[in-house]
Amino acid sequence: MANIKIKHGSEGPKWDPYGFTEIEFTKTDGTVVTYHGGLAEWCKVEYKDGKKYLIDNLEESSILFKLETGLTPDEAEEWYYKMEASKEKQCQECGSRKLEWKSGYPGEELLICSKCGEVANCHFDESAVI
Ligand SMILES: [Zn+2]
Repeated sequence: MANIKIKHGSEGPKWDPYGFTEIEFTKTDGTVVTYHGGLAEWCKVEYKDGKKYLIDNLEESSILFKLETGLTPDEAEEWYYKMEASKEKQCQECGSRKLEWKSGYPGEELLICSKCGEVANCHFDESAVI
C-alpha cells in the first residue's frame, strides 16, 4: 500500500517566514514522489533505480504529482489526515470507540471521545486562519 508523510515548516527570510507543506508519497513500486508547496513550489520524483527528476514550475508541479500518484496535493493531504485519524479509533483514556470530530478554534479539528471527553487526536488547518 502507498504511504504518505506530511511535513510542515517555514522557509524564506527570517523576518518574513512563509509556511510550507511537503508531501512525500511512496508508491507501492518504491517510487517516492515529493511535493513541496510554499514560497517555492516543486515536485520531485525519485525512482527505485536511482533516476530522479524535478519540476519547479508552479502549475506543472501539482500536475506531475497527480500524474504520478493519482491524487492532487490537496487530496493527498486529506487522505493522510483521514489515515492518521483512523489510527486513533479508540480512546486512550477509557477505551471507548465512539470518537467524533469537532471544531475547536478556527481551523482546528478535534477528535473527541463522546464518553469521557478526552481529546484523542487533533488536526490544525493553517489555511483556515490566514
Ligand atoms: Zn474516553
